[in-house]
Amino acid sequence: MGIKKIATIGENFLTLFGTTPEIVAAAPGRVNLVGEHVDFLDGFVLPFAIEAVTTVAIARRADPKIRIISSQQTSELITVNMADLAPMTGEAWTRYPIGVIWAMSELLNFKGGFDILIDGNVPLGAGLSSSAALECAVATALNELFSLNISKPDLARIAQRAENIYVGMPCGIMDQSVSIMGEKGSALLLDCRDLSTEHIPFNISPLGLELLVIDTQVHHELTDGGYGERRASCEKAVTVLGITSLRDISVPDFVARASELDETTYIRAFHGVTEMKRVLDGVAALRAGDFKEFGAIITASHISLRDNYTVSCPELNVAVETALSLGALGSRMIGGGYGGSAIALIRAEQTEDMKKAIASAFAAAGFIAPRFFTSLPSAGARVIK
Ligand code: ADP
Ligand code: MG
Repeated sequence: MGIKKIATIGENFLTLFGTTPEIVAAAPGRVNLVGEHVDFLDGFVLPFAIEAVTTVAIARRADPKIRIISSQQTSELITVNMADLAPMTGEAWTRYPIGVIWAMSELLNFKGGFDILIDGNVPLGAGLSSSAALECAVATALNELFSLNISKPDLARIAQRAENIYVGMPCGIMDQSVSIMGEKGSALLLDCRDLSTEHIPFNISPLGLELLVIDTQVHHELTDGGYGERRASCEKAVTVLGITSLRDISVPDFVARASELDETTYIRAFHGVTEMKRVLDGVAALRAGDFKEFGAIITASHISLRDNYTVSCPELNVAVETALSLGALGSRMIGGGYGGSAIALIRAEQTEDMKKAIASAFAAAGFIAPRFFTSLPSAGARVIK
């Protein structure tokens, strides 16, 4: 059974499953302005929800079967038994939505199954968090379908639990939080310790600014130990220094205690301590309307991710350096690193020149062609029907 691209999700659902969906819900991907690799450290982050969303149409079934299909996958309709809901290994994309059903089944006993159709325009694996968009769309749909009244922070935690335990990806809480709690026109200052939030206006288009997203379209493996090792270094620094979190020590106090840490631990944790300060400094710059300063903070984040946390790669560095050489206010890699996307805060009139220059620099370096997106802060997860 194929999926017609031109029909609405409700029409496609009817064609596929012979019934109309009970609920349609959507949740966005995100970009993170500043605050990278600190969400799992009880840190502060400053992401915003992008316009691109993943949409989920869902209806209950009387029998205990899940039938699921996605327009972003070539696969056919997949059927899973509710009785087989145990965390899965392997690569199947269905782990993300089924993981949310599994996480929610810990809260309530689903009597039957579900028919689920997924559609969307968040690019997969580009560092814009299509995984959280998918999880949060499913979580939002189930919350509505069963009138669960789960709070937004708890919905984010359920989606994160699906990714951590069911998919087996030890991500922090940022992506799911902003996908659910993002608001149009604002970046989300998120305190990852308690999920308290503040909406920081990021209304750049009247100022003639634009946020360009450069998708390098590459994914490299980390060569010197993975993300887990970097996280462990930061946790080790917390233990050795006898503090509760890297946010509880100022940059000068941390530097003064350098001799207590081995070099790798120090340099990785230094990224964490300074990155959290950059988020708060960035918020102050935005509040003062100082986009030049804000841009400089974004760029400083890139340099720290490149040189201290060491998660950048040649493609991301070329994207950032080219954007800066053409006059971007700031630019940095976003997301996990070693591929994925970079952002650049630029003057809107420069967008086309910037894209051309970055594409040429990629071609000259022998990289595959990058893709470009622009986005303004947009609404978080919502029920559509
Ligand atoms: P990112 O979150 O940065 O896009 P991830 O590797 O974390 O990258 O998640 C991408 C994976 O999530 C995809 O490979 C796929 O398994 C799953 N996924 C995300 N969106 C969809 C979708 N719309 N349909 C099916 N699978 C999806
Ligand atoms: Mg992801």
